[in-house]
This record gives sequence, C-alpha cells and structure tokens, in this order.
Amino acid sequence: MKTVPSVQTVRLPSVDRILGDAACAALIAQYGRAQTLDAARALLASLRAAMLAGTQAPLELSEIAAQLAQQLQAQSRSSLRAVFNLTGTVLHTNLGRALLPDAAVQAVVEALQWPMNLEFDLETGKRGDRDDLVEELLRELTGAEAATIVNNNAAAVLLMLNTLAQNKEVIVSRGELVEIGGAFRIPDVMTRAGAVLREVGSTNRTHRADYANGINENTALLMKVHCSNYAITGFTKSVELDELVPLAAEHGVATAVDLGSGTLVDLAQYGLPHETTVRETIAAGADLVTFSGDKLLGGPQCGVIVGRADLIAKIKRNPLKRALRVGKLTLAALEPVLQLYRAPDLLAERLTTLRLLTRPSSAMRAQAQEIAPQLQQVLGDSYAVTAEAMLSQIGSGALPVDQLPSFGLAVRATASCRIGNALGVLEQRLRGLAMPVIGRIGQDTLWLDLRCLESAHHDRFVAQLAQLQS
Ligand SMILES: *Cc1c(COP(=O)(O)O)cnc(C)c1O
Repeated sequence: MKTVPSVQTVRLPSVDRILGDAACAALIAQYGRAQTLDAARALLASLRAAMLAGTQAPLELSEIAAQLAQQLQAQSRSSLRAVFNLTGTVLHTNLGRALLPDAAVQAVVEALQWPMNLEFDLETGKRGDRDDLVEELLRELTGAEAATIVNNNAAAVLLMLNTLAQNKEVIVSRGELVEIGGAFRIPDVMTRAGAVLREVGSTNRTHRADYANGINENTALLMKVHCSNYAITGFTKSVELDELVPLAAEHGVATAVDLGSGTLVDLAQYGLPHETTVRETIAAGADLVTFSGDKLLGGPQCGVIVGRADLIAKIKRNPLKRALRVGKLTLAALEPVLQLYRAPDLLAERLTTLRLLTRPSSAMRAQAQEIAPQLQQVLGDSYAVTAEAMLSQIGSGALPVDQLPSFGLAVRATASCRIGNALGVLEQRLRGLAMPVIGRIGQDTLWLDLRCLESAHHDRFVAQLAQLQS
C-alpha cells in the first residue's frame, strides 16, 4: 500500500526563503519581484499537491530554484515564433506571407527606435500626410494619378466600396464572387460597406450585355475581382476590363478592379507565369485598383488603392480611412521595397519573395541531397528519407493553378515502422523543435519542400536536426 504523507510531513521551504536564496536573486533581477513571487507561489502549490498525492519526492532548495527558473523562462517565451516554412507555399498566409528584404528590415528597426516624420513635412515644418511618403513611388510604378495605403487589401476593398457605393449598386460578374481564405467574401464585404451587390451573368460565362443590362440610375461601380484562389476552365467567357471601361464611361459610372496580388512587374521576365500588373490594369482604364502589399509585391501587410486623383481624395476624406490607416512600421517597410522595383534587373536577387520564387532547381536539389542522409540518420529505420522533385506554389491566391518545380525531402514510414500514425507523429516532432519545422502531408508522405530554406538558414536548420533523435 502506498503511504500518503500527511500535511505535516510535506516539507517545503517558505516563499520568503526561496526568494531570499542567492539563486533567485538573478531571477528577480531578470523577471522582477512580483512575477518571480507569483511563479514561486504557484510552483510551491503544485509541489505541495504532488507531495500530498505521493507523486513528488522532497526537493532541495536548489532544485526548487531550478524549476522556478525553468517556469519563468517558459512563460516569458514569445508566442509568436520564427519557423521554417517547408510547406512549399512561398506566400503562406498562416505563416505571415512575404519575408522582407534587408533594406526594409533596417528601416523598420530605425522606425521602432526613433521619432519619424510620419505626418510632418520637413520642408515646410507643417503637418503632412502619411500617404505622401510612398505616393510618388506608387504613381511612378503603376502609372496611376494617386494612391493611398490601408491596413490590408480587405480594408482597401471595404473602404473603396464604402466611399464610392454606399447605398448604391455595384455590378460584379457571378464568376468573380470569390471567397478568399479567412472569411473575406466579396458579397459580405459589399454588405458591410453599405453597397448593394448586383450579380450579373452566370458562374462560367458573363457577357458585356450582362453588365449593360445591369446598369441603372442607382449604379455606382462596375467591379472586377481577381479569381485569386480558383480558376474557371472549359466553356467560359468573362468580360475584359478594356471592354468594360467604355461601357462604364457611356453611363457615367466608375470601374474598380480588386487585383489581389499586387504585381508591379511582368513576372515573365523572371521565368514565372505572367500575372496582370497594376500598371496594365491602370493603363486599361480602371478608375481604381486595390491590391495587397504582402503577396507578390513582397512587402509588409497593407492594402494599396491607386487610381484617379479625385476618387482617391474622396477615399482619404472618408472617416473609415482613419480607422484603417497603417502605422509607421508599415510605411517604413513599404518604401524600401517599392524602391527595389526601380531596378527590375536586380529585383530577383534583392526582393526576397521573388528570389524564393525563382530559386534555381539545381540549388534546391543539391541541398536536398545533402540533408537527406543527415535526416535519415537521426530518424532511424522507421522512416525512409529521399531527395525528390516536388511542386511548390506561390500561394496567397496568386496564380493558383501554376505550380513551380521544386526539390526537397520526402519522408515515408518503412515496413519496419511500429509507430501508429508515423507521419503525423513525425510532423508533430518537427513542429516541436526549438525552431519549428512546418511541412505538409499527402500521399502517405511527409513533404519538406526546400524552396524557402535559403543557404543563409541551411546550417541553422541542419544543426537542430539532432534534437529529433529519440
Ligand atoms: C488576398 C485577396 C484579398 C484580401 O487581401 P488581404 O491583404 O489578405 O486583406 C482581397 N481580394 C483578393 C482578390 C485577394 O486575392
């Protein structure tokens, strides 16, 4: 029979003794007295309960101090952590989308530490407008008359619709009523913006006449939406912007295009599939264009609205703009990213997103061949690791049907594997590493796509593999 200790036999030092111990002085210096005291109380309570239950042997003061240090360290670890994105999706929304180039990182660090002329004109000494910091660059890169920046593209669409079409109708083709991940649906945003959606055409085919018949005296806008995350193929027809523009002009209504990904250059010059650029959309006559800053553009999370100066001015006067505006960190990061676009010939090297999307196969193959035996060794004979060709995606709704030939590691359970749900278990172990590794499971294989493991991070990745050894 197990002997349960009585309350009297539970011997634990007092909180005061623990906090007075030399080992705890460093903890108090690091975490502060109040936090250390709370953690010590909680630790003593759980130790007392465990001792009473007979599951905990008496501890030395030094052992208690060590546990206290561990607990304080664990609770002060940041919940937002860096991970290795080996999912094969370069712009992964759940992993924070675009990674920023060094120039942007430096600018953000400076903006964090210094006052900035965010809304202050250094020439006149008067109050300025934060959009002015990047508007000129955006005009230059898109050919638009004016620009404004908000928190993300969803905000850009909301603000644009609310400003131009509150209590008015907006005509959208049925084939373009998209839902982007994370509950962004065109019909719902339309309602929240106070605009009335008038759907025209059918899912697969919409004609110019459908738009023409949909226009009435209450129409404010003809809107096109990029079918970011799906494609309609087969018997299809959609109306191009250059057909809609004259129709809109004829009836005195405006045109708006939600492009999703803000592509500022022709990607074909880097060997990627062509994606309609903002400049092409403006040149085709769109009055307003909205797009994300952290998709193909490769910048910080934000939404950009470019287009006609009078309409942008109206948008800026909307009180919602104040609620949706960006902070100095976003603008600090955005400007150097836009600057990179002035040198398209150097862009594939400097803009992280584009560098990842254009990484040569040979580099990824060599890396996979080097890592495969190392991973095989730590995993043992329950798993088979091979270097294999695989397909990655751009992600975030850009070119959803186009996949990029990539290279990485394929891990499968072997015949001698006795672990139930072996791949799920391994996926979890990878996520549990000091710097979590995120892969993807499919076809009885755990895929670790190496496209996003650039050589600068290779050693760090390999160094922690040893932690997987069971
Ligand atoms: C991604 C996307 C959005 C939403 O953009 P966020 O920057 O994620 O808010 C809106 N419309 C389209 C067409 C998109 O592709």
